[in-house]
Amino acid sequence: MENIKAKKKYGQNFLIDTTVLNGIIQAMPNNNNYIVEIGPGLGDLTEKLVKYKDMTAYEVDTDLIGILRSKFQKEIECNRFKLIHTDVLEAWDKQNTLHTGKYDMIANLPYYIATNIILRALEDANCEHIIVMIQKEVALKFTAKVNDKEFSSLAIIAQLLTTDSKILFDVQPESFNPAPKVVSSILYLKKDLNKSVCNDFKKFLKVCFSQPRKKLSKNLAAQIDKELLSQIFKDLNINDNIRPHEVSASLYSQMYTKVKNGRN
Ligand code: SAM
Repeated sequence: MENIKAKKKYGQNFLIDTTVLNGIIQAMPNNNNYIVEIGPGLGDLTEKLVKYKDMTAYEVDTDLIGILRSKFQKEIECNRFKLIHTDVLEAWDKQNTLHTGKYDMIANLPYYIATNIILRALEDANCEHIIVMIQKEVALKFTAKVNDKEFSSLAIIAQLLTTDSKILFDVQPESFNPAPKVVSSILYLKKDLNKSVCNDFKKFLKVCFSQPRKKLSKNLAAQIDKELLSQIFKDLNINDNIRPHEVSASLYSQMYTKVKNGRN
């Protein structure tokens, strides 16, 4: 490893396990999409990715930029590799997408903003596949199925926007330097590029899960007229005692449409 101290504030846990690095490369979809990596770190994953495809990497840490520029000087000069020195969330705020053509995101994400990054990538119209290392706990939230105790907004949004979502494999702390305190997983999401969800739907889900172990009807009663609510539950054949994690993603979508229409 380069003579550099990992920075906690940037979620730096460098992947040092070649088997895991190769596992990520094997999971790469066989297509012509461009690649975007977030947080190339010392460039170990980048080095493998750039052999296959042209790519852009977003890195926030100034100390790593010099190392990456010299490591990938040749690839930068021949335009195979573009290195952007910025906070990736700020880049999304400015331009809505991380690349102007279709791309796949492949990365070992900084865990402190992993959920945000995945949600932004799900909204980014040009991003088709998301293959990322994150905390196992968060991966389970994105891939949970109805009735699982982890089933909530993240899984619902992921299910409505993807055609496939799964955990590919788990990665133990010893595969990193420094070792994180948690087990990690490689999350795979394949998006349906024709789908989107609006911010009001996300706000609706927030209300539905405001008290996750309470009845859904109780959570919704705080925001929705009682008569409208009982009509919607009746129309959709939803039991009044149901808990938020027991309702499917498509039923949430239908419920939202009825709430919106009922209010107009
Ligand atoms: N890809 C490297 C690897 O696998 O060893 C490093 C992964 S490390 C878990 C996360 C990386 O994301 C670090 O390089 C860190 O500096 C970078 N990072 C953290 N916050 C970021 C942000 N807001 N925007 C872009 N990069 C960020």
